[in-house]
Amino acid sequence: MNLILLGPPGAGKGTQAKRIEEARGLVQLSTGDMLRAAVKAGTEVGMKAKAVMEAGELVSDDIVIGIISDRVDEPDCADGFILDGFPRTVAQAEALDTLLTEKGKTMDVVIEMQVEDDPLVGRITGRSTCAKCGEGYHDEFKKPKVEGVCDKCGHTEFSRRADDNEETVRSRLSAYHAQTAPLIGYYGEKGTLKSIDGMAAIDDVTAQINAVLDAV
Ligand code: ADP
Ligand code: AMP
Repeated sequence: MNLILLGPPGAGKGTQAKRIEEARGLVQLSTGDMLRAAVKAGTEVGMKAKAVMEAGELVSDDIVIGIISDRVDEPDCADGFILDGFPRTVAQAEALDTLLTEKGKTMDVVIEMQVEDDPLVGRITGRSTCAKCGEGYHDEFKKPKVEGVCDKCGHTEFSRRADDNEETVRSRLSAYHAQTAPLIGYYGEKGTLKSIDGMAAIDDVTAQINAVLDAV
């Protein structure tokens, strides 16, 4: 099964994608993670993307379409993948349709995580991840069971994203409303859109997603 998690920054896409990945054996494909890896590695793509990401704007369609097109060809995607943070523009969605058709694949369901803007700022500025295994945490909503120790791997260093500050979050939310929200209509017309309440507690959101996926 192939699916898209659609929602603004901080909606909980990464948190839920990791849970679906573990429970269902699907692969999480986060263009944000891939771009951050490219920035860290200093590749040509990374050099082009760095300043755009720091400003909270969208990287060019060509770059992210190319990244996804190559990634879905890898063997681990054969049994299904979860797109997290892609597509983010109508042009990306159209390119995704074309490339999936060419590769003989389909998009089975698009899950829209409905959230309000204001709480998202607090979700993002309170976000951290384990520096070793990437497990996500929140200063208030998802603390490690033992303070300062990752639940999953026991590591004690956590990292915060450079773009997870209030000013950049506002730009990222504007980009979402202007460029990404039209995808709700795009997939609504195609009949693949399912909407869930992303304001609920993390476990409750997982339960809603499982109900959608079980019905596909
Ligand atoms: P996204 O991938 O959509 O940008 P994340 O999954 O990284 O969002 O979630 C952003 C932050 O909000 C993280 O710190 C995460 O722990 C927290 N979070 C995720 N889902 C919820 C939720 N339903 N309620 C409260 N906090 C949440
Ligand atoms: P994310 O990790 O999904 O919050 O993405 C972090 C940043 O990476 C975004 O603010 C954009 O600058 C860039 N980015 C990630 N995915 C895309 C995409 N599909 N299209 C354009 N830019 C993207």
